Amino acid sequence: MANFKLITLLGIRPDYIRMFKLIKLIDEKGKDDIEHILVHSGQHYDPELFGNFIKDLGIRQPDMDLGIGLTLKERGSNTYAAQTALLDERVYEMLERQKPDAVMYLGDTNTVLSSVIVARYGVPVIHLEAGGRSFDWRMPEEKCRIVIDHLSDALYSYLPRYKDLLLAEGVADFRVKVIGNIIMDAVNEWMPRVEASTVLRDLKLESKKFILMGLHREENITNGDILRNKLTDIAKFAQEKQMPVVFPMMPRTVANVEKFGLMDIINSSTFIKTKPLGFFDFLRLEKEARLIVSDSGTVQEEGLIVGTPTVIARRSTERPETIWAGATVLEGLDGSGTLYAKMTQAWDMPTTWDRNILNPDGGSPSQRVFDDLIAKVRSNWFKTSRSYETLSGDPRVRRAYGGNA
Ligand code: UDP
Repeated sequence: MANFKLITLLGIRPDYIRMFKLIKLIDEKGKDDIEHILVHSGQHYDPELFGNFIKDLGIRQPDMDLGIGLTLKERGSNTYAAQTALLDERVYEMLERQKPDAVMYLGDTNTVLSSVIVARYGVPVIHLEAGGRSFDWRMPEEKCRIVIDHLSDALYSYLPRYKDLLLAEGVADFRVKVIGNIIMDAVNEWMPRVEASTVLRDLKLESKKFILMGLHREENITNGDILRNKLTDIAKFAQEKQMPVVFPMMPRTVANVEKFGLMDIINSSTFIKTKPLGFFDFLRLEKEARLIVSDSGTVQEEGLIVGTPTVIARRSTERPETIWAGATVLEGLDGSGTLYAKMTQAWDMPTTWDRNILNPDGGSPSQRVFDDLIAKVRSNWFKTSRSYETLSGDPRVRRAYGGNA
């Protein structure tokens, strides 16, 4: 009978994509040691972004849904302040009812900000994707990354570089483990389903004869001029290459394109606009596209893995390893014509990069996290990782406790 209660608290679609294998491992192989409760914060709630999406992936439904997004929609308030406040309240209630032994998060969404409440409650925090830094203080996600990393008891980083960044910020070495990037597990495991997708036929596309794009980040869609520049550059480039652009649009992107009066650009015959697509279809499009243009964090990694050059349509990235590998080009500064120039550069890039650089040691990153978690649970690591005995090797800690070392 498991005597360690672990809550995994996730909020958005890509969280589930990345975590699917680890969730399965904990549920199935870990059940003697861990009682696992999967909780959805409700940050994403549209059926196409959540319910249908995880059903298609064969991920189990969460045990609990904190319903943040829907409640805010009903209340007509959608600021991040209202979101964070509601999430904090609901996470607090959840902690009161469940009394977990640890709460596990992934990534840099607003959902991870509730780790403040978890840590304040005295419950250990676990963070996957630790140490990602864009050093771009304008990004909402950068604040989330820093908050959760510094509150976490156990941190799992994708690559040694991420761990180095954490150590430079003063995070204790013994808390951080490098595991490789867990997106590799998702892509590898699901490739047969991806190959079976009929999306090329459905959208009347030919392999390597279209461009795939995605824009949904705040920096791109909340300013009309920036959004217009990006859409205009993409349209111009695609028209010159005589290739269609497939554009699955997130609800927030649609709303902003309409608000800024830019639907005309997308309604031109160059664009094939769709709703957010299922993961298997989307990954197939990533694999078959001649070029990807996206502001997503995950898509730049997936482009590298499936062998398609990708322009990161952002000012900065917390994942520069994809640039160093020669698989992506960062747009960088905003401005008319910048994206067009970077698309030209990416178009001519050789596609011979090492597709394994995100998981250089091979094997399964999710399995590494699982093995480490089980070892920590069995050795009571979470009960002692903040104790004086554990920390007193550090002279700064000894001094704070009255020692003069
Ligand atoms: N994705 C998808 N359907 C789409 C667009 C994206 O399944 O229409 C997948 C994509 O393959 C990747 C993830 O969703 O795995 C990226 O999500 P998003 O860009 O929302 O998040 P980010 O990685 O930027 O946090």
